[in-house]
Amino acid sequence: MIATAEALASITSRLTEAGIEEPRREARLLLAAAQGVNAAGLLLLDEVDRARFEPLVARRAAREPLAYILGRKEFWGLNFTVSPATLIPRPDTETLVEAVLALGTAPARVLDLGTGTGCLLLAVLSEFPAAFGVGVDISPEAAALAAGNAQALGLAGRAAFCVGDWAAALDGTFDLVLSNPPYIPGADIPHLMPEVAGFEPSSALDGGADGLAAYRKILADLPRLLAENGAAVLELGVGQAPDVAVLAERAGFTTTTRADLGGVERAIILTRCK
Ligand code: GLN
Repeated sequence: MIATAEALASITSRLTEAGIEEPRREARLLLAAAQGVNAAGLLLLDEVDRARFEPLVARRAAREPLAYILGRKEFWGLNFTVSPATLIPRPDTETLVEAVLALGTAPARVLDLGTGTGCLLLAVLSEFPAAFGVGVDISPEAAALAAGNAQALGLAGRAAFCVGDWAAALDGTFDLVLSNPPYIPGADIPHLMPEVAGFEPSSALDGGADGLAAYRKILADLPRLLAENGAAVLELGVGQAPDVAVLAERAGFTTTTRADLGGVERAIILTRCK
């Protein structure tokens, strides 16, 4: 056993050396998780067990994302279980939920393509108590994880998750189509942060040579998937708004965008040209 304050100081310095941006905050979270307590509970412990925290600290020092080590990540104020099968929910993606709320209409049928943890679909369902949603993912592990998240959030009665290649197996129309598709140009992936490049699934990141491959796939099916007065809200990578807008216009849609907190055009909103 080791004094809690001493453990915190030593973990913080290891994380600092490893290049972690918020070493003290992460040291607290890792130590609390290792002891099976929350942040408040940690304050009550005089001593902690090195054998319990050491493996977690070693993983984080090797730049494994904190969310994979803790097994959870908050999104839109909701708690999500995450695994290496899915992209970790990011604050930027909350811009899409804001864009949906700004539409000013309540969707009845919602589709989320490439649902991952289910964070986008479930956040939207949490805002619209009468809506029903379908989340599709190519990864069976992701679809199962998303279903578990729906259950934990009390949304399982309004959400179905299935495995599929984008919308290939889907019929019918939706009032709202959501997607945070993979959009990083393949050659850029090795240059991303080590947490992303080394640990997050490339199927959730890799947008092909120009980063736009998934938008082309989604836009090919969107005309048949979207209800007459429906809207689609898609996430964008940095600088992609003009290119995706051109693809969307060619597919028969009018577009607007919404910026994230960093000023990046993060969401593109598509409606049918009237
Ligand atoms: N936002 C992620 C990143 O910048 C990429 C997610 C995606 O491709 N949809 O690392």
